[in-house]
Amino acid sequence: MNILVTGGAGYIGSHTCISLLEAGYSVIVADNLCNSKIETLKRVMKITNKEIIFYKIDVTNEHDVEELFEKHSIDGIIHFAGLKAVGESQKIPLIYYYNNIVSTIILAKVCEKYGVKRFVFSSSATVYGENQVPFFENMNLMPTTNPYGESKVISERILTDVAKEIPGFSVAILRYFNPVGAHESGLIGEVPNGNPNNLMPYITQVAVGKLDKLRIFGDDYSTFDGTGIRDYIHVMDLAEGHVAALRYLKEGVQVYNLGTGKGTSVIELVRAFEEANNIKIPYEIVSRRHGDIAACYADVTKASRELGWRANRSIRSMCEDSWRFELNNK
Ligand code: NAD
Ligand code: UDP
Repeated sequence: MNILVTGGAGYIGSHTCISLLEAGYSVIVADNLCNSKIETLKRVMKITNKEIIFYKIDVTNEHDVEELFEKHSIDGIIHFAGLKAVGESQKIPLIYYYNNIVSTIILAKVCEKYGVKRFVFSSSATVYGENQVPFFENMNLMPTTNPYGESKVISERILTDVAKEIPGFSVAILRYFNPVGAHESGLIGEVPNGNPNNLMPYITQVAVGKLDKLRIFGDDYSTFDGTGIRDYIHVMDLAEGHVAALRYLKEGVQVYNLGTGKGTSVIELVRAFEEANNIKIPYEIVSRRHGDIAACYADVTKASRELGWRANRSIRSMCEDSWRFELNNK
């Protein structure tokens, strides 16, 4: 089966390529490399000892996407391509809305034209906004406060409407919680552009000495230690969740939380990293980051029941694998 992976050179896409290749799928990647490098795909091929067909194209370009569909018989799409920095999305909203929404429209349009019925979409837990935790797939979504989050809400809506109209069209909307970690080989992982926004890459850069200390954004949340709680999920567990979703796809739209179901505070993650890797992480408490919520974790029973998938890698292995990748790639 030929799977088109848009954004396949990126962090989650590249790890998912490994899981797809190991599960026996053929992989075609379309990526404009705006936030990734071709070297990552070379490493994926090295890890798996399998080939990937690569197109350096922008998936908002309908002509280029159609050309790819003319050349290859595509059986399904996993659509990762997108811009993902929340803060940046507030500064350049039009670029975010255009890239993240137009890409979804073009891909759905081309799927309709070429009769491709399988579509897996990268959404985010951010669509839940400030709901009560744990987040369930059938909750009413709350405003997300930023264009990145809204672009995910709108893309979900578009795919839901399209699925109602195209007979046999099968969509899995996957709402990721907080992906961290790296492939255990240490060859691929997350490479932030400039100073990291996210906690784990920030910790690894402090650990390696690129940054002087971690700034913890607030210790006055109504959580057990006052710091923010998130549901960190190992990127390889997440990758395997995509294969499970692809296998299960059925007509219409299915939404799944991909998380572990367990919340970890900022301080707990720092301590886990220190223990796993025997490195001290200096930190100071600063004020809250605008737009952050106190707690975000998933209810994961739906994915477990329907997809037969469950995240099983520990916080410790997330810390060990993130660190191995940082050390290999500093
Ligand atoms: P990433 O930036 O590492 O990967 C995205 C890839 O898409 C990059 O390789 C980039 O070059 C490519 N790309 C972007 N726009 C493109 C376009 N128009 N045409 C072709 N290629 C394009 O990001 P990631 O962390 O791997 O995230 C993948 C997806 O998962 C994104 O849609 C993101 O919004 C979503 N997501 C990520 C997280 C997270 O914390 N990393 C959480 C929830 C959802
Ligand atoms: N965080 C922090 N310092 C940082 C980056 C993040 O204290 O340099 C906190 C943040 O406030 C949140 C948690 O770590 O409580 C996870 O943040 P991240 O940006 O990784 O994920 P998101 O907030 O998007 O879920």
